Amino acid sequence: MAKIIDGKELAKKIRKDLKEKCDGLKKRGLNPKLAVIMVGENSASKVYVRNKSKACDEVGIEYQEYFLEEDTTQEQLMDLIKRLNEDKTVNGILLQSPIPRNLDINLAFKTISFRKDVDGFTPSSIGKLTMGEDTFISCTPYGVVKMIEEYNIDLTGKSVVILGRSNIVGKPLIQCCLAKDATVTVCHSKTKNIEEYTKKADVIISAIGKPKFVTKDMVKEGAVVIDVGINRTDEGKIVGDVDFENVEKVAGYITPVPGGVGPMTIAMLMNNVIKATEEQNVEK
Ligand code: NAP
Repeated sequence: MAKIIDGKELAKKIRKDLKEKCDGLKKRGLNPKLAVIMVGENSASKVYVRNKSKACDEVGIEYQEYFLEEDTTQEQLMDLIKRLNEDKTVNGILLQSPIPRNLDINLAFKTISFRKDVDGFTPSSIGKLTMGEDTFISCTPYGVVKMIEEYNIDLTGKSVVILGRSNIVGKPLIQCCLAKDATVTVCHSKTKNIEEYTKKADVIISAIGKPKFVTKDMVKEGAVVIDVGINRTDEGKIVGDVDFENVEKVAGYITPVPGGVGPMTIAMLMNNVIKATEEQNVEK
């Protein structure tokens, strides 16, 4: 039976450590603050931002939400981002996706100051990550890496197969795993015979958004299986991409959903807000 990687517990520990750091910043007269922008109604986004706001409360980070109506123009969105870039009381800016289809989300991300880019989505952050420089790493890949580190899983020379190539999860994960000296393969919707890659993998990271996509026969005995997927079943249950009940019988390590990558993503967002506050206030 696989060892469970407990993201919920690990995230709690990270939040506790961050609270101490945050208290230290407050003693210096600094008040870390995260601004979250939502555009239009989206029930899943509401749940995500509520969880982010709760985590901010716990760590001691000030949280401010900006809700823009569905018919917001690109210019209005950009104006708000520019205003928040200039606002010295704001340390981190997060634009919650999705936003209405008529708006250009990449253009909006590009407008966020790289110094406040706590989601790690700006070209500057992505470029620095690719070059192996210190930067804001997008929160989900960062959470995955942190889990791997905390469970002392060494990726050196290991074969890592990433399922999914999105800008926010799959692509930054490539750089994160390369930085740990893994041999990385990325599969996506056009990949033929995915199981031929996964069956040979020491580590499988799935981020595609399809329930029970990763089945027991796709996994090598003892492999590490990280499930990034968040899917809602017809019965309203939250499940990952991995057929957990069966895969845990063959895997060496496995993350549950819920209670795996999800809480780690939010913990790393908190980490990035504290990092942003520190970097914006370096003592001369
Ligand atoms: P996305 O932008 O929709 O990307 C999905 C990726 O999966 C794409 O690269 C797509 O390939 C690939 N894919 C789709 N169907 C496939 C198939 N049948 N076989 C192989 N590859 C397939 O999604 P995302 O934003 O990266 O999110 C992925 C999942 O992670 C979702 O369930 C999301 O809810 C979850 N998520 C969780 C967290 C967390 O904190 N735990 C954070 C972010 C996202 P193409 O590129 O070829 O289309």
